[in-house]
Amino acid sequence: MDLIVHSLYSNKEVFLRELVSNASDALDKLRYLSVTDPDLLKDGPELDIRIQTDKDNGIITITDSGIGMTRQELVDSLGTIASSGTAKFLKTLKESQEANVDSNLIGQFGVGFYSAFLVSDKVAVSTKSPKSEQQYVWEAEAESNSYTIREETDPEKLIPRGTRLTLYLKRDDKGFAHPERIQKLLKNYSQFVSFPIYTWQEKGFTKEVEVDEDPAEVKTEGDGEPKKEVKKKTKTVVEKYWDWELTNETQPIWLRTPKEVSTEEYNEFYKKTFNEYLDPLASSHFTTEGEVEFRSILYVPATKKEDITDRKTKNIRLYVKRVFISDDFDGELFPRYLSFVKGVVDSNDLPLNVSREILQESRIVSSLWGYFYCFCAFQY
Ligand code: ADP
Ligand code: MG
Repeated sequence: MDLIVHSLYSNKEVFLRELVSNASDALDKLRYLSVTDPDLLKDGPELDIRIQTDKDNGIITITDSGIGMTRQELVDSLGTIASSGTAKFLKTLKESQEANVDSNLIGQFGVGFYSAFLVSDKVAVSTKSPKSEQQYVWEAEAESNSYTIREETDPEKLIPRGTRLTLYLKRDDKGFAHPERIQKLLKNYSQFVSFPIYTWQEKGFTKEVEVDEDPAEVKTEGDGEPKKEVKKKTKTVVEKYWDWELTNETQPIWLRTPKEVSTEEYNEFYKKTFNEYLDPLASSHFTTEGEVEFRSILYVPATKKEDITDRKTKNIRLYVKRVFISDDFDGELFPRYLSFVKGVVDSNDLPLNVSREILQESRIVSSLWGYFYCFCAFQY
């Protein structure tokens, strides 16, 4: 764990991106499974991510209402560094044999769950799977190489479904527990997450309040006796309160009007979605209407020709009604010589449980081919 902590030192804010994408993955899994098993949502229909900060104590909690983990899944997923995105990162780190890790290298890989230890002394993961009656808590400290798992028994800490991460920040990193800091990082890294992310923010509104004052003597007109009159004074005060605030934009970029999306936004979306660290050479955003309806953004990666021969890459992400369906096409759906093109396709015409056969017969595929050709012909 030490190695991760030190080699990533300069880029430690990525922890938030990693943990938020895990939360988003967990929500995606739940949403996907609930299509065939609506009962999975019975403990709460909301699919969201909520981040609360306690700046006085340096604590961040990240809660998702996603698929959660059973006890066994906790052991399998978080128990060993070997099964995490972190492992892939470390492997590459070794292979690259570079003493200094540059941030481009980091950008290529999800550093995964263990990035939580970049900023935390201690991490607790409290999680409830719909498959399990119990909620379990996994806990580990940055200094140690072991973890504990116990059942959650405190009724106040029970969640209906999903996962709550509690990060106990290191002394020097407590600044991450400022609500504005978290909000800024989320806007930077996680604006394309397709579930709402709420942060706990302090708000204020102004109101007039009465101030008690001694009854003032007021001289009245005419020759009557001077009367004592209570004149009420008011002043404006700011009433503070805390509430959840929506922090990201949940409308996927491909549903927006092309002319309202900047090149930077297209490039950021590309890099985040495909784990790329270089901007694409070109991109194309198009929508079709009428017989076959879909929206798509295609990209030409800035990769060397040699790397293009690797065809087992997951280059096209298919969504149906904004739900991620599959990226595992392996050249079956699109001509192999175009397999270097990356992108997303979203259709409203296909059933969520679309099969490979349906997809192959669908006009979407032939229609997309056409766009692929035009797009590539245009680029080269
Ligand atoms: P990766 O995301 O690349 O699989 P991570 O290290 O980020 O690697 O996470 C390891 C695994 O832990 C995930 O694959 C997932 O099974 C599990 N996991 C992490 N965070 C969550 C979460 N919020 N809800 C459910 N499962 C999670
Ligand atoms: Mg991850």
